[in-house]
Amino acid sequence: MNVQNDLIARNSKFAATFDKPDMPVLPRLRTVLLACADARVDPAHVLGLDLGEVIVIRNTGGRVTRSVIEELATLSVLANILTEGREQGFNVILMQHTQCGAQRLANPELQAHLKDSLGIDVSDYAITDQASDLMIDVGRLVTASEIPDAVTVSALLYDVVTGVAEEIASVKSLGEWRSDPVTPEVDKAS
Ligand SMILES: [Zn+2]
Repeated sequence: MNVQNDLIARNSKFAATFDKPDMPVLPRLRTVLLACADARVDPAHVLGLDLGEVIVIRNTGGRVTRSVIEELATLSVLANILTEGREQGFNVILMQHTQCGAQRLANPELQAHLKDSLGIDVSDYAITDQASDLMIDVGRLVTASEIPDAVTVSALLYDVVTGVAEEIASVKSLGEWRSDPVTPEVDKAS
């Protein structure tokens, strides 16, 4: 099977009825979603996203890593420029899922093997418990001073068996998190 040819054929069908040539650069829902790269949890499908609505960043586990923090900080500067300073913030939604492959990366022996043989440190994105790891990731954003106070953050856990996305953290701005004496567990992305 030539997958690329198959996808080009699917694109031809898409392009035949495509009628949105003038979409703005900024996503309509002013939202960046961070999700796992797992093919079963494609946000366009499981959250019903339409074209142009949400910026989606995907990585192993859907974890907040140093590179995710840098992308969000860059996006906040770009959004500020594109709106000529009218919009300071946007929504960040973190989404992890059950049965995640990144749970295997929590195995200390596998972590040591990857570090020794390939020089890769996966400890930032290994998943031990999705609900508490999501709160650790909220904490990583709270302590990332490059991301402005006006950005909101919330978190979902998607169940690959039922198809249900459950709220783990409700919407709150980073400014609110930062002024709250009870801040989430902090485990800074290195
Ligand atoms: Zn996953």
